[in-house]
Order: sequence, then structure tokens, then C-alpha cells
Amino acid sequence: MKNITVIGAGTMGNGIAHVFAQSGFTVKLIDVSEASLQKAIDTISKNLDRMVAKEKITAAEKTATLSNLTTFTSLAEGVKNADLVVEAATENVDLKCKIFRDMDAHAPASAILATNTSSISITKIAAQTKRPTQVIGMHFMNPVPVMKLVEVIRGYSTSDEVTQTVFELSRKLAKVPVEVNDYPGFVANRILMPMINEAIYTLFEGVAGVEEIDTVMKLGMAHPMGPLQLADFIGLDVCLSILNVLHDGFGQPKYAPCPLLVNMVMAGQLGVKSGQGFYQYAAGSKDLVVAPKFKK
Ligand code: NAD
Repeated sequence: MKNITVIGAGTMGNGIAHVFAQSGFTVKLIDVSEASLQKAIDTISKNLDRMVAKEKITAAEKTATLSNLTTFTSLAEGVKNADLVVEAATENVDLKCKIFRDMDAHAPASAILATNTSSISITKIAAQTKRPTQVIGMHFMNPVPVMKLVEVIRGYSTSDEVTQTVFELSRKLAKVPVEVNDYPGFVANRILMPMINEAIYTLFEGVAGVEEIDTVMKLGMAHPMGPLQLADFIGLDVCLSILNVLHDGFGQPKYAPCPLLVNMVMAGQLGVKSGQGFYQYAAGSKDLVVAPKFKK
């Protein structure tokens, strides 16, 4: 395992590319958008600068990490020598199925095809390919360079050998892999998203304001960040699509997304990435400016 390809250069894709490149792998980063690729390289460079400033890595390690990275807009070109592909494109089932059909056609027959999906069935994605035993979920957490967990999701057909290889790779990235089975939301989001949805319902029903809800969960439950701020970090569109997968997959009303979340996503208020979610953020920054007064 030497050649890693990451598909999708957004929030997660740039972090996944960063950690593989920093661990000495050769990384090809693919996106349909040239602007996303440029932004990803800028973000990785800034994150490495922060690590140099904190003396976690040296300037030479920063240079070496960046030299392990190249970018592509062509999927066929980007996957052709891959040992492992990690797909981290937009959370949309039809899009992911198409990407997996294309990956299967262009990546070497021996390559492992992993997805960073938050909630879409690994088994369904694997069935798009002629190599379902080599398809697996490799669910990194945000921000990838900081968070230790990799939720390793076995699809219905995923082999023991491929699971073992992904465990070993995760450990080479200094991450902690945890094996779970393929049911809607896996473990992380099956537990996290109903909590975030309940926090949004609590706001929607006027029980408390944004800062009050987050403060209760931070100081009362020792969460490092309140659920509404966390939703802004994850992306409200991502939260909505995960809740829809849970709702469709289990068919239980307890997973129905709060109407306020649906409205905010329709209004383009997606959290940090759009500058406005439950909080406002300074342009291009994760720095919280203010929790605005909320209207239903
Ligand atoms: P994002 O919107 O920040 O980035 C998605 C990127 O995919 C964009 O740059 C877009 O241009 C690119 N893209 C779209 N179609 C493409 C294609 N056909 N080929 C290549 N690139 C394409 O999304 P994100 O938050 O990084 O999420 C990516 C994946 O990671 C999703 O499956 C999401 O569920 C999962 N995930 C997200 C988080 C999180 O906190 N945001 C955490 C864990 C997992």
C-alpha cells in the first residue's frame, strides 16, 4: 500500500489527503472542481503551518507532506495506479454509485475501494462494482488531522482480508479503527444525529435559545462543543441527508428531520461552509461571531 487516491476535495477529502500524505503515502486528490482542489491544497498548507508553529512537525515535514500530493480533475487518471481509493465526495447516493462504477472501471483490479460516507449503505455502493469483497467504509471524523477515530464499516460482502488491511492502514495514520456492521448511520451517526436533531427541535419548539442549548450540553454533559455548533461544523446539508437515510432506512418517525433544519438547508444556511448556520462565522473562517436570534 503506497498509492492512495482521494475523491472529493471538500471538508473531509482535504483532511484525508492530508493525513495520508503526512504519513508518507503518495496521494492523488481528485475533484470535479478546480477551485475545490486549489482550496484544499491551501487548507492543507495552512493546517501544516499551524502544526509547524506548534512544533508538532518540522518545516521539512511540511514540505515533504505537500510534495506527496498531486491533484486531478479526471477520475480515470487519478485512480489508475491506486492501491486504495477513499471516496469523500458529496453525500448523495446516486453520485456515489456512479463514482464507484467509474472507479471499478478505471482502478487496478487489486485496489480496495473505500467510502467515507456518513450514512449511505456500503452494501449498496459495493453492489455497483464487480469487486464487492474489496469495498469497505472508512469513516473518518471531522477535522480529520485531529480526530483519532476511523469507523471501519463492513458491507455484506466485505472480506476479512480487506478489513484487516484497512485496520493496518488506519493505524499507520495514527488513528484508532473500530469495526462496525453496515446498518443505517452505522454507529457514530445513528447516535449523534438523533441528538443533534433533538437539539434543533428544542430550539424550534422555543424551549431555549442556541447558546443556552449548547451551554447545557457543554457544561452539563462535558461535550467539547454544543450540538448546534457541531451541526454547523458538520454542515447542515450533511446532517439533513444523514437523518433522511436514518428515516428511510428504519422507517421510524423518531428519525424525521426537524422542519427548521429542512428550512435552513433550503435557505442555503449550511453552517461554517456558508458562513451562517445556527451561528454566524467570519468569512472563510470557523471563528464564531454570534448566535443570532432565531425565527422558526
Ligand atoms: P463537501 O461538500 O465539503 O465536499 C464534497 C466535495 O466533493 C466537493 O469539493 C465537490 O466538488 C466534490 N465532488 C462532487 N462530485 C464529485 C465527483 N463526481 N467527483 C469528485 N469530486 C466530487 O462534503 P464533505 O463534508 O467533505 O463530505 C464528504 C463525504 O464525507 C460525505 O460522504 C459526507 O457524508 C462524509 N463525511 C462528512 C463529515 C463532515 O463532518 N462534514 C464527517 C464524516 C464523513
